[in-house]
Amino acid sequence: MKIKAAVAHDFNQPIAIEDVELDEPKNDEVLVKMVATGMCHADIIATKFQMVPLPAVLGHEGAGIVEKIGPGVTNVAVGDHVILTVASCGECDLCLSGHPAECRRVNELNFGGAYQDGTKRLHQGDQDLSNYFGQGSFATHAIVNKRSAIKIDPELDLKWYGPLGCGFNTGAGAVMNVFKPSIGDSLAVFGTGAVGLAAIMAAKMLNIDKIIAIDIHDNRLKLAKELGATDVINSSQLAKAGDVADAIKAITAGVVLTFRWILLVLVW
Ligand SMILES: [Zn+2]
Ligand SMILES: [Zn+2]
Repeated sequence: MKIKAAVAHDFNQPIAIEDVELDEPKNDEVLVKMVATGMCHADIIATKFQMVPLPAVLGHEGAGIVEKIGPGVTNVAVGDHVILTVASCGECDLCLSGHPAECRRVNELNFGGAYQDGTKRLHQGDQDLSNYFGQGSFATHAIVNKRSAIKIDPELDLKWYGPLGCGFNTGAGAVMNVFKPSIGDSLAVFGTGAVGLAAIMAAKMLNIDKIIAIDIHDNRLKLAKELGATDVINSSQLAKAGDVADAIKAITAGVVLTFRWILLVLVW
């Protein structure tokens, strides 16, 4: 089918919206009509740092509606609202143990430009185009493996949910799956973009006592506070970089004391 897509032809060159031919979905693949997409920093740096073979259709925080499914797809149906997330093989030990973000084939499937069977679905004449992160959401339509299509409530406005597929699960996952805070822990988040704000929201959900947001933009810090940061530091207003550590220590000193005091009471 003919679609429109933003194509990156050369490294360090702007992308351009062009006509592209998209194949039918193959086994275990889903054709999604895009409603919205986030723009992640990994899209912005993709051509600068040569992260995918060009030409390519970038974009990896897609949100849309399932238009067609290939053989073997049972987790979504035509008409479902979905957000798209990173590609994983579904067969390696890490995928099978519930860690698809650490899939053994994560580099190949997300940055290799082709799908799991090694072929591409996007074309311009004789030229094959790469996907990005197994999708290529800067387009009117994209094909993804069924594991990358996550069904969401159709009542939700899709335009807000694309970043859940990358930036938000990165930030929230770092807190919930890696940091795994316990009572008395504090969290300092450097940079309050999508990843940092997601980390802050996860920390708030886990009732971390001190959630400190550090950024150089007051408007971002204001939003961080609305979303759960207990304290904010504008590091650009400090005399020198090392002062950030002192500022964090000053904020968390009370927490440690309070926690120790609670322990003392329990011992008594
Ligand atoms: Zn991303
Ligand atoms: Zn895997």
